[in-house]
Amino acid sequence: MLNNPFQNALDQLQKAASYLEKDSFSKLEILKNPEKVIEVTFPITMDDGSVRIFEGYRVQFNSARGPYKGGIRFHPQVSMDEVKALAFWMMMKCAVVNLPLGGGKGGVTVDPKQLSEKELERLSRGYMKAIARDVGPLVDVPAPDVNTNPQIMAWMVDEYRKFKNQNSKIKIDKKNEGPEVLAMITGKPVNKGGSEGRTEATGMGGMFTLQAVLKKLSLSSSAHFSAASKVADSATGSSKIGANAPRQLIVAVQGFGNVGFFVAKLLSEKGFKVVAVSDSKGGVYVKQGIDVEKTLECKKKNGHLEGCYCKEGACDLAFGKRITNQELLELPVDILIPSALENQITKENAPKIQAKIILEMANGPTTPEADEILHKRGIIVIPDILANAGGVTVSYFEWYQNRNNQRWSKDKVNQKLKEVMNESVDSVWAESQKHRIPLRTAAFILATKRILSKIK
Ligand code: GLU
Repeated sequence: MLNNPFQNALDQLQKAASYLEKDSFSKLEILKNPEKVIEVTFPITMDDGSVRIFEGYRVQFNSARGPYKGGIRFHPQVSMDEVKALAFWMMMKCAVVNLPLGGGKGGVTVDPKQLSEKELERLSRGYMKAIARDVGPLVDVPAPDVNTNPQIMAWMVDEYRKFKNQNSKIKIDKKNEGPEVLAMITGKPVNKGGSEGRTEATGMGGMFTLQAVLKKLSLSSSAHFSAASKVADSATGSSKIGANAPRQLIVAVQGFGNVGFFVAKLLSEKGFKVVAVSDSKGGVYVKQGIDVEKTLECKKKNGHLEGCYCKEGACDLAFGKRITNQELLELPVDILIPSALENQITKENAPKIQAKIILEMANGPTTPEADEILHKRGIIVIPDILANAGGVTVSYFEWYQNRNNQRWSKDKVNQKLKEVMNESVDSVWAESQKHRIPLRTAAFILATKRILSKIK
């Protein structure tokens, strides 16, 4: 298969392998295979009374550092190889940010946009029922991913409670859920045991990561990083913008789901100029800078992004233009932020990318071949397993709060998230400087060492 995401993930691991101690080579084989793969089929009654069978997966990649952790994706492209790759990246990601968690991922092959609300609920419950015996607060803790959200997590936790009640003498009351139920999934609605700050956490973590990397770049005199250093010298986030009038950094965001929306919104609030966003059907380009919230409002109202050319509180067809997803990736910007799916930056378009920095908010958006090309061109790639780890970090906070009957304020969550992201950037950066290697390989080395040290 062309660009098989799991093969790509293993290629990434291979690059890190040569920097590891020779005696860890045999243990490295463990990280190339998932501990458990679960494949389920389950029936859903559709609104018209017909019954459809759906296919779902849960891959429990590695638990050396703690319970498996990772989201559930609803998408027509979901396959075993995709879920395996995503579970592998979760294992690496949790280790990069040093969480006591392993890696897992789940998915259902479905286009949820074709389902009614009731059908979506039955699908979510049906999938959870099918995997319930294999998950749990100390075993495997799912969360949202592409096309899943807090409401879906709430249906799933309710279904899990039913499963527990069927299988134990002590019945758990819906109003009285304790950690043994609540901590089985994260990304729940805040009034149902979710954490403050989880919804925006991935975007927020991406922003902290980008700011930390820009700071490193502006301090770095390394010729190796020269192209991107120039960008960073001119503006490091918001602080310098305005004051000594360096120019604003220009950003394009591919994807306008939860992650893409929040990263675009938060960066524009910090003074970055977001000129393009897109969804699966295409993008919008507003040269003077997009009003991100207004664009979402417009998309919700119209049912599509097309024609939503919004700046400074108003939308007008004259303000911008429609672009394709391909065009978005090749725009003349400083920072490109893929926030959608895998395999978007390939050997075909990598030579045409004009950004100096790529912040990977999607999982696996860059193929290994593209990575090589970008590296040779001096483009800095801030890898997914670092850049988008804010989501799982706040998921960990949610799991921790559930298990300890605590409720943290949004300020506390964001503060702690910032600390985790800054520390992680420091560690990855140091590794990258030590060997003069790209940040992805550095992050892989760091994560692999941390995981292997837990395997006796
Ligand atoms: N789906 C998110 C990711 O890919 C979050 C996973 C989680 O919170 O467990 O990182």
